[in-house]
Amino acid sequence: MINTPLSEQIRIILFGIRNAGKSSLMNNIMNNYISIVSEIPGTTTDPVTKSMELLPLGPVAFTDTAGIDDVGTIGELRIKKTIEFLSISDIVIFVTPIDKSLTDIEKEFINQMLSSSKPFIVALSFADKKPSPEKIEWAQKFKYIKINNKTKEGIEEIKKEIINLADKIETEIPPLEGIVKENDLIILVVPIDLAAPKGRLILPQVETIRDALDKDCCVMIVKERELKTFYDASKIKPKIVITDSQAFSKVSSDIPKDQMLTSFSILFAKKKGDLSLFVKGLKQLNKIKPGSKVLILESCHHHQQADDIGTVKIPRLFRQMVESKVEFDFARELPDENKIKEYSLAIHCGGCMVNRKKVLYRIRKLEENRVLSTNYGLFLAWANGLLPRALEPFPFEHELYSI
Ligand code: SF4
Repeated sequence: MINTPLSEQIRIILFGIRNAGKSSLMNNIMNNYISIVSEIPGTTTDPVTKSMELLPLGPVAFTDTAGIDDVGTIGELRIKKTIEFLSISDIVIFVTPIDKSLTDIEKEFINQMLSSSKPFIVALSFADKKPSPEKIEWAQKFKYIKINNKTKEGIEEIKKEIINLADKIETEIPPLEGIVKENDLIILVVPIDLAAPKGRLILPQVETIRDALDKDCCVMIVKERELKTFYDASKIKPKIVITDSQAFSKVSSDIPKDQMLTSFSILFAKKKGDLSLFVKGLKQLNKIKPGSKVLILESCHHHQQADDIGTVKIPRLFRQMVESKVEFDFARELPDENKIKEYSLAIHCGGCMVNRKKVLYRIRKLEENRVLSTNYGLFLAWANGLLPRALEPFPFEHELYSI
């Protein structure tokens, strides 16, 4: 469980007003003291996330959020953050006290939850108190579970319901889906340079290897320097060569032109985001003018290297090949809507550390504000002159780029 990245775990998020009993419920589900519980409203400020093994599902991550009715300026920011969590959740647990009528804020949240079409559970907390007839009448429209956090009534039922709802969760497509079949040979090109983490491979590489094994393929892994030797010596033509974007240029010149080639980053653009939308975004490059603003959007606090892709390499290539007088902003969270409108384009990272829902939420929010997005891998493939070739494994997007 510890080794399963958060991005690959089912995300179950608890929402509700302050003092609805969310933290106690989370502690009871985890059978542990994770979230601070007190009678003071607003004790949970920042979301608390913890994983557990929930068989037969495997590792799942629960998040306890701040109250949807938090107060003050900071409170408003917390509400915004909490609502953003709705977009990344796989299953929502809406916790509401059994003895109180729904508040206007709860009603507003319920509307958002219903329109998001996420699977959800209604947890009626404080089951030892006298139920509000209005609350019961509302809850009867859905499947609800009564929770008593003191006696642990309802906790096992919540876990069983999560397992039942798991079938309704939209899962991410594996990286090689639709590209390879049983007995295919795949060559992975993995540079071991200063940017490579010591003693291990990065997540997109590991996930691609695992998917290849799941699909009964053979995987050959080489560094870019050895690729030509082993490629020429091999008697079997690989179905595809997949490289780190940084080695695109060298790899493409070391293998035949008719060899299918793409990058981990493009595979993950499809898995984590919307490849068609990223292709459309790339086609906006010719609309960038002097003074345009470009948003570089990342998803984690990774350690930055000297020639960091997001903050150094992409801005440098962009200024050389697209427009020199362009302004870049760098962010790990989506800026406010007023700010978003200032951008002409967003370039999103591979999103390997977050789930697909989070990337889709961001790029759709950008699109709503008339800002198209592309992604690191696509931009680097374009900058290396490798488009449309690197899109060959994806016929629809290949055609979209070419028209
Ligand atoms: S691709 Fe994005 S999520 Fe993955 S390590 Fe880089 S910044 Fe983090």
